[in-house]
Amino acid sequence: REGHRSAPAISSQLLGKARSGLGNYQHGQVTTENRTISVQGEASESDGMNTLGEFPPWLENALPSIASTKGESESDYQYPLGAAIVQFHKKFIVSQTPNGIIVVDQHAAHERLVYEKLKKQFAEKKSETKRLLVPEIIEFSTSEVELIIEIKDELAQLGLVIEEFGQGAICVREIPSLLGNPDVKSLLQDILEGLIEGNSTNIVEQKINEVISRMSCHGSIRAGRTLTIPEMNELLREMENTPHSGQCNHGRPTYIEMKLADIERLFGRT
Ligand SMILES: [Zn+2]
Repeated sequence: REGHRSAPAISSQLLGKARSGLGNYQHGQVTTENRTISVQGEASESDGMNTLGEFPPWLENALPSIASTKGESESDYQYPLGAAIVQFHKKFIVSQTPNGIIVVDQHAAHERLVYEKLKKQFAEKKSETKRLLVPEIIEFSTSEVELIIEIKDELAQLGLVIEEFGQGAICVREIPSLLGNPDVKSLLQDILEGLIEGNSTNIVEQKINEVISRMSCHGSIRAGRTLTIPEMNELLREMENTPHSGQCNHGRPTYIEMKLADIERLFGRT
């Protein structure tokens, strides 16, 4: 358009050098895998500043939240996963590190933390449960009830206390406290789905892993939830102290890192 300079096309080759994982950092048990991500696409014309040097509207909107981080102490940036600066699209967290930025997928990251906690509680037989004020009765087919009841004891060890309720129904009495206030019906349906999908295995441990995986999805911060800066920092600190937090339980990255040097190169600063 007239009056707009074309923004430089982002070199996907350069962006491809953005690393996920902690790169050079070593901290506690945080994973340090170095995966290369590639980013497709180019910046559109309207992404750039106009000739008057005014910020485009999308950036103006972002400014108040960037400003709100003033007062963060410099030392926060020294953490391996940095200090949270802003959340965008209610899905991702940007944090500043000593030599770059990190973008965290809030749901994937939190899901992994809940997953690890549930696994630990199960292994140590120390599940914290929450008793439902009104037990929830959920209807299933007879064979579905069988599939779930089969691992009733293991589920109880996880904090999910259920029992058969007449024919073709399950009564849920207690749920793991870690899950907060989940939709119990969809939680059970999801667990069942996991058991059906993994039905080829008769190994209880694998079944339980599938259950824990399904549960943690229900117990974690959704994409679409607004987070405060302290909440974001809490998530980052917890990730630093949780083994395997760099990947979600399906093996996808929970965060990616972009080095300042790579970003500067994108802007032609060398
Ligand atoms: Zn999920």
